[in-house]
Amino acid sequence: MTENLSPREPATSPTTAQAAAAARAAAAGSAAPAAAPGGTRLDPWFGAYADRAHGMRASEIRALFAVANRPEVVSLAGGMPYLKGLPLDTIASSVAELVATHGATALQYGSGQGDESLREQIVDVMRLEGVSAHPDDVVVTTGSQQALDLVTRIFVNPGDVVVAEAPSYVGALGVFRSYQAEVVHSPIDEHGLIPEVLEETLTRLEAAGKTVKLLYLIPNFHNPGGVSISLERRPRIVDIAQRHGVLVLEDNPYGLLGFDGETMPALQSYHPDGVIYLGSFSKTFAPGYRVGWAVAPHAVREKLVLASEASILCPSNASQMAISTYLATCDWQGQVKQFRELYRERRDAMVGALAEHLPSASWTVPAGGFYTWVRLPEGLDAKAMLPRAVTARVAYVPGTAFYADGSGADHMRLSFCYPTPDQIREGVRRLAGVVSNELDLATIFGTGGTGGDAGSSGRAAADVEAPGPDLA
Ligand code: PMP
Repeated sequence: MTENLSPREPATSPTTAQAAAAARAAAAGSAAPAAAPGGTRLDPWFGAYADRAHGMRASEIRALFAVANRPEVVSLAGGMPYLKGLPLDTIASSVAELVATHGATALQYGSGQGDESLREQIVDVMRLEGVSAHPDDVVVTTGSQQALDLVTRIFVNPGDVVVAEAPSYVGALGVFRSYQAEVVHSPIDEHGLIPEVLEETLTRLEAAGKTVKLLYLIPNFHNPGGVSISLERRPRIVDIAQRHGVLVLEDNPYGLLGFDGETMPALQSYHPDGVIYLGSFSKTFAPGYRVGWAVAPHAVREKLVLASEASILCPSNASQMAISTYLATCDWQGQVKQFRELYRERRDAMVGALAEHLPSASWTVPAGGFYTWVRLPEGLDAKAMLPRAVTARVAYVPGTAFYADGSGADHMRLSFCYPTPDQIREGVRRLAGVVSNELDLATIFGTGGTGGDAGSSGRAAADVEAPGPDLA
């Protein structure tokens, strides 16, 4: 089974593509294009890539997830919201009406900064988390993922340091890597990022002559940690960043998904000039529209708009108008409340099943969001174990995905957002069986369960890659 999970040869090999290009060139009466110097048999253009492209590699666990998406596998891996709860019929008719009545605008190019009415509505949404911004301060982006890319693009030179929580969001680590940033992790505990250690980390980096450009944080219902930064720590963290002259990048897609309905003040609300705030409709509404936003100090916002225009000209007008209509005509806050209840039930199923089946592990109990962060029993390696878990029809994301330096093999991220409570319980039961086999193997062979073909501890940073969009 493990062999079948290895990446397959691409259907059209580069050699075939080269032959086809040569045939086309010959037919056009010209010589076959020469491969760039440094090309390889597998990739004739290997030597031509920009330096920044060399860190980009598909994860070796991507192939496993192609199998994990099969219906018989319970996937506790993906971070996909559960959309069946949305009023799809109402949304469908309002989109049809939108195209019928405003199609010429909805299907046209729009403003680089984003639709003004939507920006006004975004300001209202953020008020729930204590952010008082003006619509002019908002830049609409293609998901908050694009905002991460734009912020990194305008601030980070190769070799600059981004300080990120340990662990941190896999999709952000991919962006930082693509701009050749050095990511330095600073630890979290059950109350989020630890201010004292952050202070030490920044002081140490300064003493080493490093240029720290960003402090990247997920303050609420952390991906993958499941924890939130406590109220008491928030102003302290902002203050530390300010004293060290470091801009805070606050990534907050889950803030409204607290299970007790309580929302914490955004870090941005403590010091609007020192924080770039990122928001998203992906988790509270639907990721398919790909609409997120950034709120930034005035001059930064100007640069973000220019960078976004260079990248995509403008965000999708159709998506923005659909979201704007949804916010204006549906009870979106009632919908978010329903999501919170649904995800709370699934969180309860997850932590209940972990307590019943996996008492030898430990885990965070999230008060919102999509994820719990599980520490495996001593000596087990989550990445090495993954092929065997998928064989046992359960999938998760190994902790290594969430560290820039390849550590984290003793952890895994379990998502409770998409599977039903029954599927979650069954998935955890299967996982417990896999863990128990690994522990037996470790006892018999003293291998620590790392006998598989995807062993990971201590890998170089470049080997640890994003598993792909549906898992992020
Ligand atoms: N930040 C975090 C912490 C996330 O978990 C995600 C999605 N998994 C994103 C950003 C990107 O979200 P989107 O681009 O869909 O807004």
